[in-house]
Amino acid sequence: KQVISVQQLNKHFANNHALKNVGLSVEQGEMVALLGPSGSGKSTLLRHLNGLVCGDKTVNDKPSNGYIEVLGVPVQKNGKFCKTVRASRCQTGYIFQQFNLVTRLSVLQNVLIGGLNSTPLWRSLTGRFTLAQKQQAMNALERVGLADFATQRVSNLSGGQQQRVAIARALMQQAKIILADEPIASLDPESSRIVMDILSDINKKEGIAVVVTLHQVDYAVRYCPRVVALKKGEVFFDGPSEQLDEGT
Ligand code: ADP
Ligand code: ADP
Repeated sequence: KQVISVQQLNKHFANNHALKNVGLSVEQGEMVALLGPSGSGKSTLLRHLNGLVCGDKTVNDKPSNGYIEVLGVPVQKNGKFCKTVRASRCQTGYIFQQFNLVTRLSVLQNVLIGGLNSTPLWRSLTGRFTLAQKQQAMNALERVGLADFATQRVSNLSGGQQQRVAIARALMQQAKIILADEPIASLDPESSRIVMDILSDINKKEGIAVVVTLHQVDYAVRYCPRVVALKKGEVFFDGPSEQLDEGT
């Protein structure tokens, strides 16, 4: 079953063509690396998948052109956002290079935020979560090996630990897809391996599709069976990661 479909996506910024006729199709359960040097368009492509770029609101950039569908609903069509993006966004966990956690809240509270989609408004406004939600959040923390840190403030954690909290938040969200934008770019090698091991593990065990942008070939080859490589906004390789060396 196809969970992501991108057809003929073009994105122009003021003075550059950031994505050129990009096509991408991802099946449920795949783990795909988006690989390429800085400025090749990885982040722009990933952000399109979650309806974070379209171009009709901001100065300086023209609407994107093309078609994007995620989890069976259109995200954008020829430069216009589709209202259905909400449906796919709720089921898409997004991981950022700089974690995007609320640093003055506890680890557990940050994970609970992932469940807000399914929380009645009055509860989320008063910060009340059910026991079942707290248990679910604790399970997610156990999954990333941080159950012992539940009551700590996020600001006391290392970068690698914070990224694991972000993954737990995506699990709490019951994401069907995880989009990770340079999740290990700010981490040391050991933390990078732990974070990639966790992403790989939830991909294999939960069947969650993972699309992860990376600029290092070695991590892509080691963790992702499939690599999509971008160069100046164009897909120049899409295939099994073991064929990457011959293709480049
Ligand atoms: P990568 O993630 O591979 O580093 P990006 O997707 O961030 O690449 O950027 C692709 C190209 O688009 C770069 O040339 C970058 O400068 C440009 N770009 C990205 N975002 C914007 C923006 N908001 N305004 C103008 N140019 C942008
Ligand atoms: P990354 O390389 O990690 O994807 P960047 O540092 O390239 O991130 O971009 C960070 C932010 O700046 C993004 O929101 C991106 O859209 C914006 N940006 C990137 N390049 C440009 C640019 N040339 N002009 C304006 N904004 C840009």
